[in-house]
Amino acid sequence: MLSYWLPDRVHQVHFTPEALHTLTAFQQVSNDPEAGGQLFARFCNGNAMVMKATSPKAADRRSKFGFRQNKTAAQAEILEEYENGLHFIGDWHSHPEPTPHPSGLDRASSRSVFKKSKKDIGAFLVVILGTSPFPSGIFVGMEDGDKLVELTPVTRQQHDSYLIT
Ligand SMILES: [Zn+2]
Repeated sequence: MLSYWLPDRVHQVHFTPEALHTLTAFQQVSNDPEAGGQLFARFCNGNAMVMKATSPKAADRRSKFGFRQNKTAAQAEILEEYENGLHFIGDWHSHPEPTPHPSGLDRASSRSVFKKSKKDIGAFLVVILGTSPFPSGIFVGMEDGDKLVELTPVTRQQHDSYLIT
């Protein structure tokens, strides 16, 4: 489990082992093309649990330095997962760099997706995978329509005291 503080520093977003397993499988090693998919969550007391990261679709366009999601396939997936009780919370994609940083294009597109999407929370999660092991090889950010804020990982100590209180 990997957890991050939401910008309010009260609530958290958790990634389940199942979601992390899919994300790890698409880290770009050697000459793999960029990959991407969507993130689906359950919400509990203001916290988000990312239950599932979906895989790239056949209709997506992938290259070493680019990933373009097929919008129709993505929209169909959102409806399908909603039937399973999972809410669309954001997107993920990979970069061919050890510690990933959002590009100018990533920032512009997360803002535009945020504005167009119907959201169950007032923000949109942006996950970028690098080639290093997690957590240094993963960027987790939250787009609020104004900026993309990098989220801070929850330390083990904070995690333990969080569960007690
Ligand atoms: Zn990117």
